[in-house]
Amino acid sequence: MSSPDVLVVGGGPGGCAAGYWLARNGVSVLVVEKKTYPREKTCGDGLTPRAIKQLLDMEFDFSVPQIHRIKGLRAYAGDLMLEMPWPERTSYPNWGASIRRSDLDGAVAQLAEKQGAEVRQATEAIAVVQDMRLVGVDLKSMDGSVERVFPRVVVVADGSLSRFGRALSTQRRKDYPYALAVRTYYESPNSTDEYIESQLDIRDKDGRSLPSYGWVFPLGDGVINVGVGALSTFKGWRDVNTTRMLEAYVARLPEYWQVSESDALQPAVGGKLPMAMSVGPKVGANWLVIGDAAGAVNPFNGEGIDYAYETGRMAADVIVEALAADDLALLGRYAQVLDDEYAAYHKVARVFVKVIGNPSVMRGLTQVGLRSRPLMEWTLKVMANLLEPEEYGMAERVYKAIEKVVRVVPDRVV
Ligand SMILES: Cc1cc2nc3c(=O)[nH]c(=O)nc-3n(C[C@H](O)[C@H](O)[C@H](O)COP(=O)(O)OP(=O)(O)OC[C@H]3O[C@@H](n4cnc5c(N)ncnc54)[C@H](O)[C@@H]3O)c2cc1C
Repeated sequence: MSSPDVLVVGGGPGGCAAGYWLARNGVSVLVVEKKTYPREKTCGDGLTPRAIKQLLDMEFDFSVPQIHRIKGLRAYAGDLMLEMPWPERTSYPNWGASIRRSDLDGAVAQLAEKQGAEVRQATEAIAVVQDMRLVGVDLKSMDGSVERVFPRVVVVADGSLSRFGRALSTQRRKDYPYALAVRTYYESPNSTDEYIESQLDIRDKDGRSLPSYGWVFPLGDGVINVGVGALSTFKGWRDVNTTRMLEAYVARLPEYWQVSESDALQPAVGGKLPMAMSVGPKVGANWLVIGDAAGAVNPFNGEGIDYAYETGRMAADVIVEALAADDLALLGRYAQVLDDEYAAYHKVARVFVKVIGNPSVMRGLTQVGLRSRPLMEWTLKVMANLLEPEEYGMAERVYKAIEKVVRVVPDRVV
């Protein structure tokens, strides 16, 4: 296949999902991935029910031993703790999972291949741009050989750094939220825990609050994934040293994990999370941008795998229609499809992360929230984007309710 109808740049969750749905709809598609599976990707390795739904739709085999099923979320703030099972929903399963990205991404690439996509590894795509138009793509193999292809449509799925996207003039909106996160792995006798854990109030050794959140995602095989993230809306974000925050977080982890900082299985590594569809334009004359390259991470919870799957699928649907009608102008619909699905939700999320950027508000919210199971269960549904269609209006109402609660919190609890 020298010039497929569609070329997908990047074989992460977004690229493989796009490849899967294009091939399943009979489109000739080549996915190029510059690394070789199993390839590492810095990640918390956590999948919410929303991501599970996408994987089920792609017929992912959840019986593989690398999958560890997760029943719900345990949220901490200081000494307060609340354990919440994933909610019962009609559109989503009531369970999540954890799996290393080195196991997950190659497996989804294979699902795309099974549908008829060609997946070419160790191949880097370089945009050939003339007069601001994408006229071709150079595919550079490891041995240095270069092949120029002329696909009709290109899907840009090259992750948060998105060099290919930048060559097409995509840019991130600086006024939209953004996060930096680091993670590492530890051995833990509690790795079979069926809850993922999140700490909403991280403190240094002197008890000072740090502008970040932390997680422990058990992998079920003797190892846990531990990390911290810092949102650009947090006060003091610019001075954040995420590695030091991780040390502070690990030093105060609950005893049942039985880990200490010096036992990390590998040095902590970090990455960027562009959020709320902050990167655009999303579509050009013959290209579309998906996943992290489009800034698709959910600002509420830092989840990006699911949104890479979803945007890959939406892009595929639009491309299938445009190719069937032999009218690439129809690709322009993609921006509207994204807006219809996410714009209202992200609007709430953007305000929310701005409000919790104030540490005293964040403390007030967590202190009040963790004392109220109904409020936290609602918050979990909103944050993991698990609302039923008829509940969408509620997201806004919940946000307003939370905001009201925070405003009336007495000083002594914040
Ligand atoms: C520390 C951290 C923790 C996180 N934890 C979670 C979590 O627990 N759950 C969750 O849902 N999300 C998490 N995320 C976010 C998640 O990792 C991303 O949102 C997700 O990987 C996005 O998928 P993608 O396909 O868009 O991009 P990527 O997964 O980055 O894939 C892009 C692929 O493109 C390839 N590539 C790049 N350039 C080229 C090129 N020119 N030619 C060919 N190939 C190319 C890369 O090698 C890569 O394989 C986390 C992120 C970080 C940094």
